[in-house]
Amino acid sequence: MTPAKLTPLAIYKITPKTNCGQCSLPSCLAFSAAVVAGSKKFKDCPHFHAEDYKHLELHQTPADTQEATRAEFIEKLEGKVAHLDFQDIAPILGCQVKHGQLEIMSLGKRFSVSQEGALNSECHIIPWVQAPILSYITHQTHMGITGNWISFRELKGGIDWQGLFTSRCEQPLCALADQNPELLADLIDLFMGTETDTQKYEADIGLILHPLPHIPLLICYQKADEDLESELTMFFDECCGQNLHIKSIYTLCAGLVKMFEQIALQHS
Ligand code: SF4
Repeated sequence: MTPAKLTPLAIYKITPKTNCGQCSLPSCLAFSAAVVAGSKKFKDCPHFHAEDYKHLELHQTPADTQEATRAEFIEKLEGKVAHLDFQDIAPILGCQVKHGQLEIMSLGKRFSVSQEGALNSECHIIPWVQAPILSYITHQTHMGITGNWISFRELKGGIDWQGLFTSRCEQPLCALADQNPELLADLIDLFMGTETDTQKYEADIGLILHPLPHIPLLICYQKADEDLESELTMFFDECCGQNLHIKSIYTLCAGLVKMFEQIALQHS
């Protein structure tokens, strides 16, 4: 039997209800909601003992656990950002420093990262960009753009993620392009992309996007033709494998495709 979903009220019942603020939230109720949302953990309240909440942890759904893992990962990255010297790393990353914040362009949109790792933007912040941006700026190695395009499989660790990448990124994007013939051209305008020579890739359209300054992505799309099915392949500059972990590259592309799906939905 699936355990009942964890609710803020169930957690609130076992909090001390003193609203002491030691969990960095203003009230025990806010803390309870944050645990359900995955941004806080039971152990973040110093007044809890493990035996107080063990029975409630069993009610966390896989989605809660996934969100909690994501929050933990973000927290780790924020901790790493705190140790960075923005002035030193900005030119290496293709970023700028303004008012003490690291400014980074993603798909033509400006984001800034504070020394505490908080992400701000002139546009609505899309949750999936947070982890790749923080991973990019804290990545241990870095290489400038080479101009050599390679497949996902050729990136370091790409073989292990290839199946997921094909099913969650290339295939859905190909289906989107099939249904929305103008979509790829629209993306060039929307995200400051550039069109590239397609002959070399035997494609009808070749589009270069920069989800991060030194993470260029080439999308090649070939329309269906008589007996041939349509085909879409994503290529990456060789530097991508040095600038971002393969899991973050996958997350970035899967997030992009989700965003393109929403754009296509709004335009339909
Ligand atoms: S630290 Fe614990 S007791 Fe204090 S406000 Fe947060 S949840 Fe409530």
